[in-house]
Amino acid sequence: MTSSEQRLATIRGGVPPRRHNARTIAALTGNPGCTRRAVLDGAGVDKPLLAERIGFPAGFGQSRFAITRGNAFEAQVKADGGAELLRLVAERLGVPVPAVASWTDLGDGADAVDREQRSAALLAAALPAAMPDAAAPEAASSDGGRADEQVRPDEPAALFDHPLLGLDVAGRRVHLEPDLVAARLGGRFHVVEIKSFPVIDGQADPAKLAAAAVQSAVYVLALRELLAGNGHDPQLVSDEVVLVCPRDFANQPVAHLLDVRKQLLVVRRQLDRMARLDTLLTAVPADFTADPAADAATLVASLSQVPARYAPDCLASCELAYFCRDEARGQTGALGRPAREALGGITSVDEVLALAAGDRAVDPEQAEAAALLRAAARLRADALGASA
Ligand code: SF4
Repeated sequence: MTSSEQRLATIRGGVPPRRHNARTIAALTGNPGCTRRAVLDGAGVDKPLLAERIGFPAGFGQSRFAITRGNAFEAQVKADGGAELLRLVAERLGVPVPAVASWTDLGDGADAVDREQRSAALLAAALPAAMPDAAAPEAASSDGGRADEQVRPDEPAALFDHPLLGLDVAGRRVHLEPDLVAARLGGRFHVVEIKSFPVIDGQADPAKLAAAAVQSAVYVLALRELLAGNGHDPQLVSDEVVLVCPRDFANQPVAHLLDVRKQLLVVRRQLDRMARLDTLLTAVPADFTADPAADAATLVASLSQVPARYAPDCLASCELAYFCRDEARGQTGALGRPAREALGGITSVDEVLALAAGDRAVDPEQAEAAALLRAAARLRADALGASA
């Protein structure tokens, strides 16, 4: 065990680290500037348990109903060996629906390492065959990369149900299970995600869509690493993900393309940051602990020693959100990033109100913000006066 691993184990209180999944990795990108979160997630601390221990239990997570509904919709979409799914995906990609397609269920097997190895072997074997003509045009990727291995457009498709992929997160192997990987459609691999949130009049809930895009980017990254690790061009994995959702208020599936290039960069950057935990740990006091056996007061005092960057978005992505929101009460950061940035470095709400009321002397660097705040206060008073 390295000294960093020893330190992280001590932070956890000696309990085994909590396992990440695609959803929790995606959530890591929600507040990448938060040191508290990076350290706790890097150490594999059980944050829901920690939040409960300090009296601020997490208020989110998928309901049992949502999970059941999601599973039922996925089973419906994948019925008949994925025939309808294949048609949806091919049509959305703008390629002819293949007359022949293989279906491989990789969801079986209790041993994750075996499943990951089997998935890797079968996915690598499904690489589009090399074009016979070396002078064939390059298959350029939409993210500016280049698929060096040329592909034949007439190959039969191959669909892989629940392959098990892997990614290293803060030095630990994390297993990931996309709903489906389609190989050889349009000459590339495509991640296919099946979600049960509806698309109504062509519009989906923006927050759910954004979460699905980040989660899908995690799968794309893992699949690219798998290909690269087997000596193949990672750009053979498309950065366009096929998202399948129910249309309108019926259960009729509809496919959309999600461009996840931006999300890939964000996830990569955050994983790189997590890989440099040694650097983060230098800023963490030696006695910092998230040991669930410690008493609540010790845990609160300990957490307070590691800087956080609370923003309202935390409520949807981090189990410590209610604690951090309470801690950030009275600070402009709690109003959200736009408010914090617009207030140009004024951190306290009391200070903002004093500047708006003209009750205090203004530092030169706050002059512009103070003038804007006084103007806003005048406009508000006028508006209230007019409506009285
Ligand atoms: S809830 Fe707290 S620990 Fe979590 S990301 Fe937000 S500020 Fe950081």
